[in-house]
Amino acid sequence: MNATDQLFLIRLGELSLKGLNRDFFEKRLKNNIKSKLKGYRTHVITQKGRFFLEVEAACPVSVVESALSTTFGLVGFSKCLKVDKSEEAIRGAARTLMEEPPFSEGVGTYKAESRRADKSFIYTSYQLDCILAEEVHRVHPLLTVDVRNPEMTIYCEIRDKAYLYTSPKKGLGGLPVSTAGKGVLLLSGGIDSPVAGYQMAQRGLRMECIYFHAYPYTSDEALEKVITLASLIAPYMQGTRLHVVPFTEPQLHIKAKAKSDETTLMFRAAMMEVANMIAEESEALCLVTGEALSQVASQTVEGLAFSDSYSERLVLRPLVGLDKGQIVDIARRIGTYETSILPYEDCCTIFSPTHPLTRPDKQVTRSHYSDLEMLPFLKEAVANRQTYDFSARGELIE
Ligand code: ATP
Ligand code: MG
Repeated sequence: MNATDQLFLIRLGELSLKGLNRDFFEKRLKNNIKSKLKGYRTHVITQKGRFFLEVEAACPVSVVESALSTTFGLVGFSKCLKVDKSEEAIRGAARTLMEEPPFSEGVGTYKAESRRADKSFIYTSYQLDCILAEEVHRVHPLLTVDVRNPEMTIYCEIRDKAYLYTSPKKGLGGLPVSTAGKGVLLLSGGIDSPVAGYQMAQRGLRMECIYFHAYPYTSDEALEKVITLASLIAPYMQGTRLHVVPFTEPQLHIKAKAKSDETTLMFRAAMMEVANMIAEESEALCLVTGEALSQVASQTVEGLAFSDSYSERLVLRPLVGLDKGQIVDIARRIGTYETSILPYEDCCTIFSPTHPLTRPDKQVTRSHYSDLEMLPFLKEAVANRQTYDFSARGELIE
């Protein structure tokens, strides 16, 4: 560690419970953090239940914070100071922390919280708390102690060195992306599918995305919107690839040949087939969609079972039991909502029938689908797709 490096203490959550697999999970997390900070010199030191991340001084704190707050597998983090285990050094570090938010304002309530992993240290935790409190009062005489419900806390941990920090930030929890293999996310411009991608990334799934684009029935703005959504969820996913599949020909063919009340079901079957073709090439083991039971006409048990029958791969629907309000809450929290509600129609809305069949008989409807002989159209669409790559920071890679 260089003298000018910044240090962050990172708390691991569920990860520290992963028993024999712990190394595997920790290695992934370490790589995921480093890839978000690519371009800066970083070093991660692993200790029981936590990481210490060293980052070169040139990297803005905001960059580190946005990296850590979008990475699954950690429950909290704090920028911290590492000093010798001497009273003088600890007092000095406490005074430094007093110059930074949230203490720098000098008003409100606080407490000091010390812990000793090294029990041979000359002071007890209580004595350390008193030392910290003395320094707090020296700099900010107006602050008052409240050990139950403090507005801010100064922490000191005695390990190989003394580590001091204030105001830990919350992490996302979950499991590091890539510990659960790979899937493909069917990403439309709506509210649901970005949330579905976020939910599966939370459980460690790495994903590529597929968008079915029916130009000119869906506009360039609709595509732009999906590209924006992909860039917004890419940090949670540790980067992703977006496949834009031209879907006008297959849709027009379906529209012309299928029974009107079955068109939506036929679109869904075609999407499933294409998603499986791309999953095959990308070595993805499952599909992810934003469907929720009974939300729209095609999302009945019969409708979902029908589209399932066109997937060789497991179809994960993490939102299946949520209602729209719950999905919207997550969309707001993860920052996709405002983009999702932009008004550009997606292809299904334009092509949807007025009276869709909601309870298809699987066998009958499957035979109607096979009459459409979709395969040549779908192969052509897959071959003509365009891809966009996004970095772990969500930047479009040209
Ligand atoms: P969303 O809010 O995600 O658009 P929705 O409530 O509009 O979902 P549907 O339009 O029936 O519901 O779509 C269900 C799911 O199918 C979507 O969540 C998405 O996973 C997938 N999907 C629908 N349209 C497209 C598309 N044009 N490209 C890629 N995936 C799509
Ligand atoms: Mg939609």
